[in-house]
Amino acid sequence: MKIIDNVFLVPGVMANSYIIMDADGLTIIDTGMPRSEKKILAYVSSLGKSANDVKRILLTHSDLDHVGGLAVLHKLTGARTYASQIEAGAIAAGTSSRQIKSSGFSMRRLMFSLLRPFMKAPHFQVDEILTDGQILPALGGLHVVETSGHTPGHISLFAPSVGVLFCGDSMVTDENGIHGSRPGLTWNDAKARESERRQAALGARIVCSGHGPIVMDATGKFPL
Ligand SMILES: [Zn+2]
Repeated sequence: MKIIDNVFLVPGVMANSYIIMDADGLTIIDTGMPRSEKKILAYVSSLGKSANDVKRILLTHSDLDHVGGLAVLHKLTGARTYASQIEAGAIAAGTSSRQIKSSGFSMRRLMFSLLRPFMKAPHFQVDEILTDGQILPALGGLHVVETSGHTPGHISLFAPSVGVLFCGDSMVTDENGIHGSRPGLTWNDAKARESERRQAALGARIVCSGHGPIVMDATGKFPL
């Protein structure tokens, strides 16, 4: 699905996977659950591009529904892969970067714990470590924004030239707007709130989250 010129949401992948198209090739943000690579590459084909056109794969954090397709996608595309130091360590270990609090009951958490033994991400070493403030050569300059809270090393990506923020799971979206990281899945609530404020101040017009619809008129819809 086209979001704006050169920015696309891959249909049918959980969590949301995004594709940015530039003259020098494609950038993918997050890779969905294991085996999502097929859907992602089918969508790349539908854009008239091939696996070899994928130049960069960026990971917001090391939860399975964001890094599941990474290893195979890297193998099939030869793309350079990127994550923050903390998340890269977790991706290398094939785990999440934080422990989910075990108190309280949630269907989602129960599902995760039941599925975990069958749904492990392969260990994978990313090529490059991302740091806060770094600018990647995509979408007119894609800024790395440190947004810890959901996980310790979570990052978002912001393209000021088009006002698009890719926030991973640092915030979730629904038909009512933009909300904080889901409580039962948040590593540190105070840091998560800080990251929400930080992102609200960026002046993004469009918010692309890991879970939920694209918010096209984001001004005033941040969780404050
Ligand atoms: Zn997550």
